[in-house]
Amino acid sequence: MLDIKIIPAATRKPKPDESKLGFGKHFTDHMLTIDFTEGIGWHDAQIVPYGPLVLDPASLVLHYAQEIFEGLKAYRTPEGKVQLFRPEMNARRFRRSAERLCMAELPEEDFVQAVDTLVSYEKDWVPHAEGTSLYIRPFMFATEAAVGVHPARNYKFVIILSPVGNYYPQGVNPVKIYVEENYVRATKGGMGFTKTGGNYAASIKAQAEAAEKGYVQVLWLDGVERKYVEEIGTSNAVFMINGKIVTAPLDGTILPGITRDSCLHLLRDWGIPVEERKLSIDEVMDAARKGTLDEAFATGTAAVISPVGELCYKGEKVTVSDFKTGPVARRLYDALAGIQWGTAPDPFGWTVEVK
Ligand SMILES: *Cc1c(COP(=O)(O)O)cnc(C)c1O
Repeated sequence: MLDIKIIPAATRKPKPDESKLGFGKHFTDHMLTIDFTEGIGWHDAQIVPYGPLVLDPASLVLHYAQEIFEGLKAYRTPEGKVQLFRPEMNARRFRRSAERLCMAELPEEDFVQAVDTLVSYEKDWVPHAEGTSLYIRPFMFATEAAVGVHPARNYKFVIILSPVGNYYPQGVNPVKIYVEENYVRATKGGMGFTKTGGNYAASIKAQAEAAEKGYVQVLWLDGVERKYVEEIGTSNAVFMINGKIVTAPLDGTILPGITRDSCLHLLRDWGIPVEERKLSIDEVMDAARKGTLDEAFATGTAAVISPVGELCYKGEKVTVSDFKTGPVARRLYDALAGIQWGTAPDPFGWTVEVK
């Protein structure tokens, strides 16, 4: 159990207009920090006013990118309660990311306690409007001041909170996706299964070039053969071919998404066949040409489900589901959003109330 000290902010910010929140633009009045020092362990857990961090210019994170993060949300239910969705999964993934980057591991129960305590303290900031939520961004970085590559001895863990708007103000709508042939996101033995800043730094160029061509996101292919589909932007990629769900296996290059896991759970529960296997882009394009690519969509915390309406690979464009949201994507979106916002029962015990 963490002993969390609270230093309240002297003044409170006005709450932003809930119809114009956007994503990641507004931050709440407080943040939570915990320090790690080799030989002492985790110490000084505290909730403090939101504000700049002071860093030594030699802090290892600024040079060698020893940094990891998480992303989850707090949702307001119609009764006004606030709830989290499977936060223990984020805690576990965070610890696995730390392990891969040789960083101090925050005990999973401390991670969940820290999230719960800060969200509870900032409860007024969880917006009420339909589809809105409070985005929770825990992160950790190496603070040891030393130039020279080695596992740092000191770390800082921080949680900041951001009220975010409805991802689909006009309703769920499909997007155009560019299949990336030049750049890769991750390879076996790398850090693909972790949420570490470096993976995202490496992805920006592909995303920027796709945006110039009029595409919302890229579909990443495997880093060795550029043959197998892996992820869509910062979301997991799911396909439905001839009535079967097919998605990439968790073999080290894919981020183990909590939305992905929840979707596969629901699909199996509904009796829809699910295959976690290597899926080549040629098989996807062939299915699209033959008319057996029923659906394609991305899964992730930000959008829940994001249907793909068009794929562009080597200059060939194919339309998916007539550029409409397919029935499986729609059913998954409704089921998950219903559980998360508390408008439907939670048969799997996935939600945790924040008191
Ligand atoms: C965060 C993330 C996902 C989705 O994970 P969720 O837990 O479902 O939000 C998928 N792929 C990448 C690369 C990610 O960073």
